[in-house]
Amino acid sequence: MRVDIITIFPDMLTGFFEYGVLKAAREAGLIEINMHSLRDYTDDKHRQVDDRPYGGGAGMVLKVEPLVRAVEAISQPDKKVQVILTSAQGKRLTQSVAKTFSSFDQLILICGRYEGVDERVMSVVDAEISIGDYVLSGGEVAAATITEAVCRMTPGVVGDEESVVTDSFYQEQLLGVPQYTRPPEFRDLKVPDVLLSGNHEQIATWRREQSLKKTLENRPDLLKN
Ligand code: SAH
Repeated sequence: MRVDIITIFPDMLTGFFEYGVLKAAREAGLIEINMHSLRDYTDDKHRQVDDRPYGGGAGMVLKVEPLVRAVEAISQPDKKVQVILTSAQGKRLTQSVAKTFSSFDQLILICGRYEGVDERVMSVVDAEISIGDYVLSGGEVAAATITEAVCRMTPGVVGDEESVVTDSFYQEQLLGVPQYTRPPEFRDLKVPDVLLSGNHEQIATWRREQSLKKTLENRPDLLKN
């Protein structure tokens, strides 16, 4: 899996990708993550990436030519490539969308800024994706979110396959189970007896109940399906 991120702030996410699971996956050669400065794909003296919106209105818009040129230059021929635009107007990122993206060889993520990108960029975009119903100042955090969610599902990236399979949303539209670790007692807070019982069948039943309970409390909308 190769992830290419197009942004006007190529250094912004560098640190983020240098920790934990993503770092290990990069070092093991399972994933490759590249940052690309949009400014490198301009062809004017001022290396201008944005301009005022046609029709008036506040703010600036990222220009179409550098974005399309960047996508064309970065796209690997003969590979399964998915071009993704981060956008508050996009389809919502879910675990199943992330799973679909994990089947591609290369993801090209476009980070908008200011008022967004010139709509004609859509001519090279396969999926317009939002990470939630709120507005960020730029697509970088959304690109990091998409990258992390997708890479977790690339085989070998998360050491223990089981831990991905038992995550929230993985098999069904249910939230994950509550987890505990030592000590068995902290102040008056105890680890549920069943988890200390060693009875795997009872533990599985308890976890199923907890997962349903949590989903009912926090995300009743998921149970409708
Ligand atoms: N005018 C736009 C908002 C622009 S915010 C609108 O009304 O929808 C600037 C950039 O931040 C966007 O181009 C997009 O790349 C990113 N962004 C903002 N909110 C986002 C969200 N919820 N999900 C993904 N990207 C988002």
